[in-house]
Amino acid sequence: MSDKTKTYQAGDVKISIKRPECISCSSCVFMAPKTFELDGESISVVKEEGPYDDAKTIEEAAASCPTTAIVVEK
Ligand code: SF4
Repeated sequence: MSDKTKTYQAGDVKISIKRPECISCSSCVFMAPKTFELDGESISVVKEEGPYDDAKTIEEAAASCPTTAIVVEK
């Protein structure tokens, strides 16, 4: 399971995305477009380069995920 979770550093926050739980709804992309995008499999990933959204925006995007696939740590 852990190998299916990808972890990224985006500015001050660490973001983990549980790929099997992503249902490609794009909510995180809509809420924090400078941070998230969908990859070729339509699964959410963190963009390779910033500048990223601020931590609050990223947290709100994570909270909007209907399957709680995104975990944000400071
Ligand atoms: S909000 Fe959640 S389910 Fe929707 S695209 Fe983002 S990670 Fe996937």
